[in-house]
Amino acid sequence: MLRFFFVFLIGISGVVCVNAQQQFEIRYLGNMGIALTHNDSTILVDGLHDFYEKDYLPTDATALSTMLQQKTPYKKIIAIAVTHRHSDHFDSTLITNVANVHTAAILIGGDQTRSLLAPGLLKRFPPIADSITIRLNTRLEINLRRIAHTYQARHSAIENYRIEVVWNGFRIVHLGDADLRPAALTSLKNNPDIIVIPNWFLSNEGIKLLNELKPARVLVTHISPGDNESHKNEKLRTASTAFQKYGDLVIMKL
Ligand SMILES: [Zn+2]
Repeated sequence: MLRFFFVFLIGISGVVCVNAQQQFEIRYLGNMGIALTHNDSTILVDGLHDFYEKDYLPTDATALSTMLQQKTPYKKIIAIAVTHRHSDHFDSTLITNVANVHTAAILIGGDQTRSLLAPGLLKRFPPIADSITIRLNTRLEINLRRIAHTYQARHSAIENYRIEVVWNGFRIVHLGDADLRPAALTSLKNNPDIIVIPNWFLSNEGIKLLNELKPARVLVTHISPGDNESHKNEKLRTASTAFQKYGDLVIMKL
């Protein structure tokens, strides 16, 4: 709570207002896709992809329709972030359709995803380095860091980015298809409010890394719709929620 007040007071530079309660909602959109909503604004991470194979839940059609109609909770999408170009995380047509409606949304991702979008969108898609901070305003920043994609023997050329959103003191980390190794969490501050992991981080090694990071909550994703077992691991001491079906929702308050 102290951390929140500190950030908030800096953000409004001199105006003292400490009684507002900050509410953040995280909705599951499919595979590793999430929508983070605060007040009327929403940030998507890996939230727009079409059917790829049956093991990968595509973006929820109802949610997509709601976004295109700019209805609650998707009245105002302010950022569309993508960890990497694989079709269970990214679809250029869906992103284009949503970006054309939500014209203020910034597009965030690596060069490989940038190169797959139409030239007209690129002025809203800043080129990035291996590690970069994008500040949307004084109270919202998005940090990207390139980390290895899992299954390096096959996917070593894929640029996978870890995406960290810091918003009014609330901090969420999304790993994309991270390879299970300590470097996946390099340079992260401890105690993020949420970390979104692929299910293969629920191994003993992954749980050890997560316990060192001490997130307040772990969201387990990238679970095949037909698999009811892979997310079950009682050794995970951090509070966790397996995101496996549309409509799963986590509400956190600061
Ligand atoms: Zn991938």
